[in-house]
Amino acid sequence: MNIYVNGISKIYGEKENRVVALDQAFMTIHQGDFISISGPSGSGKSTLLHIISGLDQPTQGSVLYDETDIHKGSDKMLSAFRRRKIGFIFQQFNLLPVLTARENIMMPLLLDRKQADEEYLRELADFLGLKDRLSHLPHELSGGQQQRVAIARALIAMPDIICADEPTGNLDSKSGSEVMQMLCDIQKKMNKTLVVITHDSRIARMADRQFTMTDGVLAEVNRS
Ligand code: ADP
Ligand code: MG
Repeated sequence: MNIYVNGISKIYGEKENRVVALDQAFMTIHQGDFISISGPSGSGKSTLLHIISGLDQPTQGSVLYDETDIHKGSDKMLSAFRRRKIGFIFQQFNLLPVLTARENIMMPLLLDRKQADEEYLRELADFLGLKDRLSHLPHELSGGQQQRVAIARALIAMPDIICADEPTGNLDSKSGSEVMQMLCDIQKKMNKTLVVITHDSRIARMADRQFTMTDGVLAEVNRS
């Protein structure tokens, strides 16, 4: 699936409170692209990723997944589409504290009333080094392990696209590198589209295509 971002803007507030969080962003993302977006805090990176992944509506412009305008349908259609096609990874992991790692990972399937694919779960747990951690609660896991559970949760419904908003922002540099390396391997091995927001220039450079965001303006960095 390709994603066409057509001149999206996001404006918050009115008059003296008016903030242009995102200013007419255009980008084409092809299936299998690994993209990084970096820029200062408050420059509009999360706003962009939220609109691309259907978590938020643009004030102007559209986002097409192949021929489908994701902001045109009902909220119900959009959430179903998101659950099946897009895996989202947050800086704060966003695991449910009362559920085990396994239950957290299975949550997207549960919401879709789909059967768990035990074989695929085992494969993911192996790859992410979580085999012996599946019955643990989030607070019994390290930050790196929690983020790896969140990665498994993002992948369990086999989405084409993975969006990650500062996935290493809450981790020390060693577990951050491990998490990034795993995401990168998964992207290559499974031909997923990966869009990562990061403050870390080393992570930004791991991507095939790098973008920067400054005051709501998106630009692609040309490779020399
Ligand atoms: P980044 O992820 O790059 O740190 P954000 O996309 O979170 O930036 O925010 C971009 C701008 O939009 C900031 O000036 C922020 O204060 C503003 N903003 C974000 N969300 C809201 C909101 N819900 N209401 C008003 N302003 C917002
Ligand atoms: Mg942000």
